[in-house]
Amino acid sequence: EPGLYIVATPIGNLGDLTPRAADVLSRADVIAVEDSRVTAKLLHHIGIKRPMTPYHDHSAEGVRPGLIARMATEAVALVSDAGTPLISDPGFKLVRDARAAGHLVVTIPGPCAAVAALTLAGLPTDRFLFIGFLPSKAHARAEAIAEIAAIRATLVLYESGPRLAASLSALAEGLGDRDAAVTREITKKFEEAVTGTLTQLATRYADAPPRGEIVIVVAPPGEAPPASQDDADTALAEALTRLS
Ligand code: SAM
Repeated sequence: EPGLYIVATPIGNLGDLTPRAADVLSRADVIAVEDSRVTAKLLHHIGIKRPMTPYHDHSAEGVRPGLIARMATEAVALVSDAGTPLISDPGFKLVRDARAAGHLVVTIPGPCAAVAALTLAGLPTDRFLFIGFLPSKAHARAEAIAEIAAIRATLVLYESGPRLAASLSALAEGLGDRDAAVTREITKKFEEAVTGTLTQLATRYADAPPRGEIVIVVAPPGEAPPASQDDADTALAEALTRLS
């Protein structure tokens, strides 16, 4: 059926491509891709060949309208190099414009590093905030961290090996020394989750930037402790009054 198909692909283990994703890709009239070499490998793995066209949200003006027009009569699939399109990856503007044009939009969900990291970290998952990548410049990074310091949710951040230690130090500085996990190479041979406080983790990685792809997960702020024993006694007395 004509329309736009958002297809999640593996983040390191080809076995994670869902049968439905393989089926949709094999029927697509065209696949919009980040990097055709990366997607060609995936297509080769499932034994299919389909036409590909490069797409980024910042592609030349003509590219997106061209793809949107094709959706009237063709099945257009969107993939990124790894994981779920639109999650720190291109696609938001394509979905927006496909909807505006009244085309069918279908999602084929699958791997996403942010969600996979949450399942590994051992930190609360009832409320979480996806931050994506922090800015790389120190000042902008500190500002971005200050903005989220008060939020009562687990934080999920994408990061690269060379920047990991600096980001962990900046997070410790701006958020306090919270519990955290550094998850790495998820679904690959050397998958790991290293837990500790932000300061411990910053020290661990300071002289040894790890290889591979990384997600940082940070615990929510702790309950603020009472300012003094007197305050605590008063709060307890009030609570007991309300109970009686
Ligand atoms: N759209 C992708 C998704 O659904 O997760 C994310 C794309 S983003 C450009 C790439 C970042 O995702 C990496 O820098 C890393 O932080 C994270 N990532 C992707 N694959 C990963 C993996 N196998 N293990 C850990 N982190 C990964």
